[in-house]
Amino acid sequence: MPACETDVLVVGAGPAGLTASALLAAQGVRAVTITKYPGTAHSPRAHITNQRTMEVFRDLGLEDAVRKVAVPNALMGDNVWATSFAGQELARLKTWGSGTARHADYVAASPSAMCNIPQHILEPVLRDGAERHGADLRFSTELVRISQTPEAVHAVVVDRETGAEQEIVARYVIAADGGRSTVAGQLGFEFDGESGLGRAANVWLEADLTRYTAHRPGTLYWMCQPGNDYWVGSGTFICVTPWTEWVMLFMYDPADGEPDLSPAAVRERASTIIGDPDVEVRIKAVSEWQINHLVARSYRRGRVFLAGDAAHRHPPANGLGTNTSVQDAFNLAWKLASVLRGEAGEALLDTYDAERQPVGKQVVDRAMRSVENMRPISQAFGFRPGQSAEAGWRSLAGLAADTPEGQARRAELRRAVELQNYQFNAHGVELGQRYASAAVASDGTPWPAPARDPELYYEATTHPGARLPHAWLEHAGTPVSTVDITGHGRFTVLTGIGGQDWLDAAGKLATEFGIELAVRQIGLGCDYLDPLGEWERVREISERGCLLVRPDHHIAWRSADLAADPAATLRDVLRQVLAR
Ligand SMILES: Cc1cc2nc3c(=O)[nH]c(=O)nc-3n(C[C@H](O)[C@H](O)[C@H](O)COP(=O)(O)OP(=O)(O)OC[C@H]3O[C@@H](n4cnc5c(N)ncnc54)[C@H](O)[C@@H]3O)c2cc1C
Repeated sequence: MPACETDVLVVGAGPAGLTASALLAAQGVRAVTITKYPGTAHSPRAHITNQRTMEVFRDLGLEDAVRKVAVPNALMGDNVWATSFAGQELARLKTWGSGTARHADYVAASPSAMCNIPQHILEPVLRDGAERHGADLRFSTELVRISQTPEAVHAVVVDRETGAEQEIVARYVIAADGGRSTVAGQLGFEFDGESGLGRAANVWLEADLTRYTAHRPGTLYWMCQPGNDYWVGSGTFICVTPWTEWVMLFMYDPADGEPDLSPAAVRERASTIIGDPDVEVRIKAVSEWQINHLVARSYRRGRVFLAGDAAHRHPPANGLGTNTSVQDAFNLAWKLASVLRGEAGEALLDTYDAERQPVGKQVVDRAMRSVENMRPISQAFGFRPGQSAEAGWRSLAGLAADTPEGQARRAELRRAVELQNYQFNAHGVELGQRYASAAVASDGTPWPAPARDPELYYEATTHPGARLPHAWLEHAGTPVSTVDITGHGRFTVLTGIGGQDWLDAAGKLATEFGIELAVRQIGLGCDYLDPLGEWERVREISERGCLLVRPDHHIAWRSADLAADPAATLRDVLRQVLAR
């Protein structure tokens, strides 16, 4: 059996694998990425891409390409509950920061906006980006066996077109092989939580719903019909192409019997949910998936790391599936690159688990709770399990009644809709990851206490472990974000007027450690101007202070002011962060 040797083997070319592949290639790491299918995702799956993930694509130079093929942003904000598209609208919520109450929070927090891009449209952009950076991507190549020794990982792969087997020997493996991960299964990774909590079907279809949606443009339309109270309604339409292409998603309990998923049956279901027999429905594809609530207890075993759905499996609520997967890759890629280049000690790789496993746990718990939080909506409509359709319609009519009971029901509905902010405007969950690990050096201060609900609101801080706050600066007449002047695979030192000693120290230590250490000075008359004082408001350090920012934009360490010996101080910090 011919063998191939590489530094990193990435198993899987979904959002996690493709991002890892692109990032590793951008940093010149020798890597091979394999995927068992002949191409990228062939149908729409996940679609909400949050600001943090867009920042990862921005770092890779892919943000504009993603935005170009995504649904225009102005068309993603309204979340509608109705009895059918043609029927009565029952409630509406502005989502993903599009409402006046939240828009400023989102704009202030990131240079990148939210985005609705269906997975089958996103993945080719990531693939192109990875290949442009020189990634070695191998399609129709399935991993069948994997084992590891202290020295290397041995993977046996099969070419699905020719049947030929090949061994790939890698120093490290990123298992980005999705929710049925062969790697996690064969190497004995353990998971906490439950699987098979419910089943769902995705029906990809064409139907021109312009007249029912253009005046309330959004990503999700929840159709709730009496007599069909299972969990989150009768069927949710997800916008793929405004307003003619959709995914109709519905959940079901197999204990009640398997649904009829024949094209005729799902077309009939779609027509009922649309509520207008004149709208023609064309089914493109049907797929099934199950609801899991699982997270790997540890993301690392020896030389193997889990990323994406291989590590965490949860319902689509909050739209965190692809987002968490892309962000796992962003955390891991620079660490592998640093270790492989000999710039960091092996122990740096342990910090991937320390930092991302708690995020995975938070995400699966949040997604599950968000699904449960949808029950009060159907209850407020007056829907009850086992109720007949007639009883359901009668109960729904009471919602609009001019009676004290009707008034109370409307207040209950408003409360139930407000609860959905934990799913659709959970800015803190989307952006507020705080890392605690050996790759973060304490500055001796406590984390700032959140002023508002930390799941709903992101609060900028430069506390070590936090994501670098975004502020618009100006460089050579061009607006740039703090996010733009950091990242790109290297560490960055940020300081201000009076911080020249930090810059000198950084130059010296870059040579001493053999690493790339970018330096940026922000302030009046500096290379980077802060004309609006945005940076001054969020930096939490003095002008003469210093931030050491990691390649993934997280803050490795900070100093509130100039240190007595900046070089010695920074040297100690780099030794800790790089495990040297
Ligand atoms: C039908 C469906 C609908 C979904 N809908 C939503 C949604 O609405 N919202 C949401 O947030 N999330 C949704 N998800 C989940 C979302 O798609 C995932 O969270 C996301 O794709 C995870 O990315 P990933 O890269 O970790 O894994 P995946 O995208 O699953 O990619 C796994 C990759 O591994 C490869 N692979 C698997 N096994 C092997 C092997 N043995 N050898 C080689 N390659 C292998 C596959 O070819 C694929 O490239 C949906 C998933 C599915 C399947």
